[in-house]
Amino acid sequence: MKIPVLEIFGPTVQGEGMVAGQKTMFVRTGGCDYSCSWCDSAFTWDGSQKAEALSAESVLERLDDTGGDRYNHVTISGGNPALHKGIGELVELLTDRGIQTAVETQGSYWQDWLLSIDDVTISPKPPSSTMVTNFEQLDLFVERLSSRSEGSQSLKVVIFNDGDLAYAKQVHQRYPHMPFYLQVGNDDLHENQPEKLRDHLLHRYEWLVDTVMEDRELNNVRVLPQIHALIWGNKQGV
Ligand code: SF4
Repeated sequence: MKIPVLEIFGPTVQGEGMVAGQKTMFVRTGGCDYSCSWCDSAFTWDGSQKAEALSAESVLERLDDTGGDRYNHVTISGGNPALHKGIGELVELLTDRGIQTAVETQGSYWQDWLLSIDDVTISPKPPSSTMVTNFEQLDLFVERLSSRSEGSQSLKVVIFNDGDLAYAKQVHQRYPHMPFYLQVGNDDLHENQPEKLRDHLLHRYEWLVDTVMEDRELNNVRVLPQIHALIWGNKQGV
């Protein structure tokens, strides 16, 4: 079963969530069932770039061609990678080679291969995205993953404004046992000077940190910037 792939790159650092800072390769798949207003990878679903249908073996070959022997962790990203059944075979191949895997998905589609992923980030989207969370579906998603060992999955909500923070609290209270990450959103996807974007995003990060520190309902959370955006700005493929 083929996987629609838009880009394979790395090694680089994972810029987000529970594995932030991890040296990793990226496999970015095409297609998403959402269309978030601030999506920073809209090229995966808006038709502006074309995905290549690759077998799991071909993806592994490309990973080796690009990363050589300089990787032992692969992040499968999108779009929504959970739309693709064929990723199961890739995860098997990677696991057989002792390579660790990570995935991020909004939790709207389930695939059994998610149970074999080392680090699963579930990232339900807040109101500023204009998407609406189906909490019944998310309940099932979280429940299926909860059978795995602690620390193998987490929730992450991207924050742009106070409404998003209120939503994040709702999610945190609904799943109190899940490690919970708040990440400041990039609200300037058109800035092409990384230094300018960095200043702006650090300012936004400071706002989020200050706000969370004052909130007693958010005592057990981690607050992160998007590391790759601070280093490379809006550049694709890093
Ligand atoms: Fe973009 Fe992720 Fe939203 Fe899909 S779920 S539209 S990839 S931000």
